[in-house]
Amino acid sequence: MQIYLDNAATTPMAPEVIEVMTEIMKDDYGNPSSIHSHGRQAKTLVEKARKTVAQLLGVSPAEIFFTSGGTEADNMALRCSIADLGIKHVITTPIEHHAVLHTLEELHKKGDIKLILLSIDDKGDIDLQELRDLLAAHPETMVSIMHANNEIGNIYDIQQIAAICDEHKAFFHSDTVQTIGHLPLDLSNTSIDFITASAHKFHGPKGVGFLYINGKNKINPLIYGGAQERNMRGGTENIYGIVGLAKALELSIQNMQEHRDHVVKLKSHMINSLKEHIPGVSFNGRSAEIKNSLYTVLNVSFPCTEMMDMLLFNLDIKGESASGGSACSSGSNVVPHEPIASNADSERIPIRPS
Ligand code: PLP
Repeated sequence: MQIYLDNAATTPMAPEVIEVMTEIMKDDYGNPSSIHSHGRQAKTLVEKARKTVAQLLGVSPAEIFFTSGGTEADNMALRCSIADLGIKHVITTPIEHHAVLHTLEELHKKGDIKLILLSIDDKGDIDLQELRDLLAAHPETMVSIMHANNEIGNIYDIQQIAAICDEHKAFFHSDTVQTIGHLPLDLSNTSIDFITASAHKFHGPKGVGFLYINGKNKINPLIYGGAQERNMRGGTENIYGIVGLAKALELSIQNMQEHRDHVVKLKSHMINSLKEHIPGVSFNGRSAEIKNSLYTVLNVSFPCTEMMDMLLFNLDIKGESASGGSACSSGSNVVPHEPIASNADSERIPIRPS
């Protein structure tokens, strides 16, 4: 039997999503930019999907821009707002996804911004007073803090961070790629400026995502070459992906509580079984605290033994897929970011079943 424990990396597509996508693949091959009926039909599908996504998040369809996924959406939010909104400083955490961190590091190196990293403690938490102090000292700032961390599952209170940014007239971007479709998010009454999403994290197709841009922010495109997405993202629309994304989001939000209850049961069982059977096992970040973590992520450290060194390999042979790495020996690591990696015990091997 195969067991898939890598849903933070990507999720299997929901059968209903595959169904709607294959249905339109058969008949709806028009280019949404064409003005004939085939084109108009394709355009209608894209706009219907946009409306669905917007309604589910409590925003206007004009604030949703489809992209090729989370990485592009993060790049667009950061690069375009830094270029167009007069941003001189960016405050972020050292444990953002590389779509955010590497983008900001590059912009810092080029001299476009000064990058400021918040401290994180050994649980992966940030200090909101430090954020307030940094914002007070640095005008013309954007804050970029993810909703939940993809490695250790910590959840950050983005509504509170948005309010703090508001007080200091700072822009706020949040990478919500791991939480859209998994945690409730109502943007109808918030000052968050940008959020990002990726369909393959909520049982939709790969290669499609979106960027929400709060209507008060006027930025220019990242990708030029066409009038698609109301002149904001050139390139023929991935209509099958976009329709699949909307369907997947609809289903995820509809079934959120049931899905959450099911996954929390599995996660609790795994935590208890690991504690019972593996002496010296420990958990990274807040991932083992059911109430304080993203329920889809668990980050476990196993004591380093010869057997544990081959753990992922042996799991794979048994048909169990999980992400992880080796803190004992050199190699790729599930906690690739230095701050988490250095908080992790070097005598332990971290694995992320999700
Ligand atoms: N941001 C976070 C937090 C992620 O977990 C991921 C994917 O792993 C991304 C961004 C990138 O998304 P995509 O794979 O759609 O480019």
